[in-house]
Amino acid sequence: MSENIRTVKNATCTFCGCVCDDMELTVDLDKKQITKAKNACVLGRAWFAEHTIQSGPAAMIDGEEVSVEAAIEEAAQVLTKARFPITYGLSDTTCEAQRQAVAITDYIRGTIDTTTSVCHGPSGLAFQGVGESTMTLGEVKNRADFVMYWGGNPAESHPRHFTRYTVTPKGMFTPNGKKDRTVVIVDVRRTPSTPVANIFLQVKPGKDFEMAWALRALVKGHAVDASIEEETGISLEALEDLVDKMKNCNYGVLFMGMGLTMTRGRHFNSGAIMALATDLNEFTHFVAKPVRGHGNVTGADNVVAWQTGYPFGVNFSMGYPRFNPGEFTTVDTLIRGDADAAMIIASDPAANFPQAAIDQLHRIPVISFDTKETETSRLAHVAFRTSTYGINTGGTVYRMDDVPITLRPAFESPFPSDEDILTPLCKRVHELVTAKYQARGTGTAKVAAPLK
Ligand code: SF4
Repeated sequence: MSENIRTVKNATCTFCGCVCDDMELTVDLDKKQITKAKNACVLGRAWFAEHTIQSGPAAMIDGEEVSVEAAIEEAAQVLTKARFPITYGLSDTTCEAQRQAVAITDYIRGTIDTTTSVCHGPSGLAFQGVGESTMTLGEVKNRADFVMYWGGNPAESHPRHFTRYTVTPKGMFTPNGKKDRTVVIVDVRRTPSTPVANIFLQVKPGKDFEMAWALRALVKGHAVDASIEEETGISLEALEDLVDKMKNCNYGVLFMGMGLTMTRGRHFNSGAIMALATDLNEFTHFVAKPVRGHGNVTGADNVVAWQTGYPFGVNFSMGYPRFNPGEFTTVDTLIRGDADAAMIIASDPAANFPQAAIDQLHRIPVISFDTKETETSRLAHVAFRTSTYGINTGGTVYRMDDVPITLRPAFESPFPSDEDILTPLCKRVHELVTAKYQARGTGTAKVAAPLK
């Protein structure tokens, strides 16, 4: 056994949006491998185990190994020559890398979008229409005595959500853990999360909005017809009982899963849940929050929003940010054939987008950033192999409750980080764009200095 063992305490797992920051990692520095991840769930253990150091080139152009510098130059040329360049992904990298990606997209007057557009984008729209009554997961742990999950299965997608924050932990005002909480799950089917619930309500598929609206009506004291059972699958008595429990709790939280956003109703469903939380604040304290999937998808929303005013689907072609999901979201720009170059960071759309969008990725020059070979990196014109955030790379990520967390990397990688590449790429793009404006005689006033 290797002597060269290191322990990293309070490390962070970036596999899912829980971003658990209580990992104790045992690292074999000779093998460059994490051999033990204390406190990690089954998904976290797999995440740490699979991220060993791989061999291979750090940069390739059309499948041929090149220097990182040559690949950066080619990427800069592609991006600045394109008429409708897009940037996509960003949910599995650091905020420091994300801000460089936003700056590059701004300089090239491109379109930036994140994986939010294919998961909780509808909730992002609903925030702007309804507003969000929000909280931290620490508050939930310490105060929430009513916890409802709607359209999600955290036992399988976020295994420590129940045990760290919402069901079993003993909090300041919930000293008896689960005994002090009412846990409700609303879903279209039973899942491994169902046994955790005190109350399970099986709503008919596609009827979430109707059920949420009926709850809103009951909270406001309006009459609801008994035919609601035929419509939603939930009896009026069950809805009335639920409303009674909601109104009489001390602190309630409504968690929204993708079962709400990726089904009939989409942003109307998320908006209805947020409005329900607002209504309930007439009686007691209530909050609503989406359960986010990727490790730093919340960071992507935050970084894109604090630089452009909007969380995803943002276009700079007019010289200022415009937000229009459906027009500027990546699946749409690809399927319409608008995008003529793509920078894909820490995502694999070629493996999971609709075929028409993948076909367009095959037709245009793609610049990819990934820790491993993927469908997207295989079709890329310029492919960067990067180190893994949280394991090899420090930086900042946002937990799903918008709390920023500093990463503690375990061991060094021979590959550069996304930020290591994006920073000089941003600088080079800035030079090329500035030169373009000067050649046109329009000066450089419109092009601000690159980020440090
Ligand atoms: S719950 Fe998520 S962040 Fe926490 S250890 Fe499991 S996979 Fe990692």
